[in-house]
Amino acid sequence: MIILSLNNHFVMDAEAIVIRIKTPSGDMDSSVDFPSLLNFNDLLAAIRDVMPEATVTAFEYEDEVGDRITVRSDDELKAMLSYYCNTMNEQRMNGLLPDPLQIFPRAGKTPGIRNIHGLKVNTRTNPNSDCSHTVPDSIANNSLKKSSAELKRILTNGQINAQDIHYQEQLGHGNGGTVYKAYHVLGKRVLAVKVIPLDITVELQKQIMSELEILYKCDSPYIITFFSAFFVENRISICTEFMDGGSLDVYKRIPEHVLGRIAVAVVKGLTYLWSLKILHRDVKPSNMLVNTRGQVKLCDFGVSTQLVNSIAKTYVGTNAYMAPERISGEQYGIHADVWSVGISFMELALGMFPYPQIQKNQGSLMPLQLLQCIVDEDPPVPPVGQFSEKFDHFVTQCMRRHPKERPAPNNLMDHAFIVQYNDGNAEVVSMWVCRCLEERRAQLGHV
Ligand code: ATP
Ligand code: MG
Repeated sequence: MIILSLNNHFVMDAEAIVIRIKTPSGDMDSSVDFPSLLNFNDLLAAIRDVMPEATVTAFEYEDEVGDRITVRSDDELKAMLSYYCNTMNEQRMNGLLPDPLQIFPRAGKTPGIRNIHGLKVNTRTNPNSDCSHTVPDSIANNSLKKSSAELKRILTNGQINAQDIHYQEQLGHGNGGTVYKAYHVLGKRVLAVKVIPLDITVELQKQIMSELEILYKCDSPYIITFFSAFFVENRISICTEFMDGGSLDVYKRIPEHVLGRIAVAVVKGLTYLWSLKILHRDVKPSNMLVNTRGQVKLCDFGVSTQLVNSIAKTYVGTNAYMAPERISGEQYGIHADVWSVGISFMELALGMFPYPQIQKNQGSLMPLQLLQCIVDEDPPVPPVGQFSEKFDHFVTQCMRRHPKERPAPNNLMDHAFIVQYNDGNAEVVSMWVCRCLEERRAQLGHV
């Protein structure tokens, strides 16, 4: 049993959890009565206690697609606990017994610092675990990797069946579809499922499914993971990774040091898509998703022309984030995505759409004539003195009226604003997302 220290600031639901420390000599289960009070150093000391022969400086946990996430600080621990509590709640709501929180110590070979925090750990090997005998780390890790890889394979072969999805709350409604949070019982994971009604022929359905094939190949930390898509009657359901921070359109006025890290991820995500010869075509704040681990991922890019066309037939209007050349119906390319990056980041910094004469009420589709000012007028510039010169330069360059004057893809990564924040510091975004979610919860609680 881990006895908790009371000297930290985490605020989470107080509910006992079981942490399973995966060590080369088996699993060590420890029950933590008040996870909200757990801190990184105490947990690390507990791990070192059960692995005295190794220098453990960090540990990892696995996310829903089996990727390992490293924890090195209190904030990363907080993000892990928040992720785990969500998963545990999902499992409970679906009548399942929650799995323990599995952590994987990252160990070197030299002796480590001993337990200076006086934690006590139940070193009884978990009798129910497959790893209860001495299993070399590499073998244990391999089998785990294999099972998550297997799960990924099953999911990405389109084997999510409609009946295995338990729909939960509605996350939002856009131009064309409704997005639900859902639980995939077989995969034991939370999904975001976008359901789009489409009255089209079976031939077109097949064409859309084959156009979506490319999504199985997308593999980037800056692009939402695609699991499966299927038609049921006249509706297509597109199943993707769920992002617990939601989309950026609801955050607004994001401080520059956070926005900088977000911009790095967005530019990397787009660069990846462009390298696959995919134009995003719908870059805007509601298609930039964040999570409490500080990850930023792009979604809703137009890989299926048929899907985009079929939706466009039902929903009339023009997207306010489109580049002028798109609004006026000219040919467009990568530079149109770059414009949308500029206008999106200006909005996220200002907390309002950069053209004050355009009132976006719901969604981003507007009558074409209202967007004519984007074609006719000089692009907006950020108000003097509110943001750094690098930020001002970044957005104004992306929003140059003439496409060729905007930064080319390979220049975007080299822009001073991007270079400044390309430090891999996900903690900044993670802390900010966690804080905003807490504030939102508190506000809801007061209603
Ligand atoms: P558009 O249809 O033009 O993309 P939109 O982005 O506003 O417009 P949707 O894509 O339908 O609308 O998404 C609706 C909302 O659902 C988003 O604003 C976002 O808050 C939420 N959402 C979408 N995908 C996810 C996801 N993978 N994880 C969490 N929330 C999501
Ligand atoms: Mg969207």
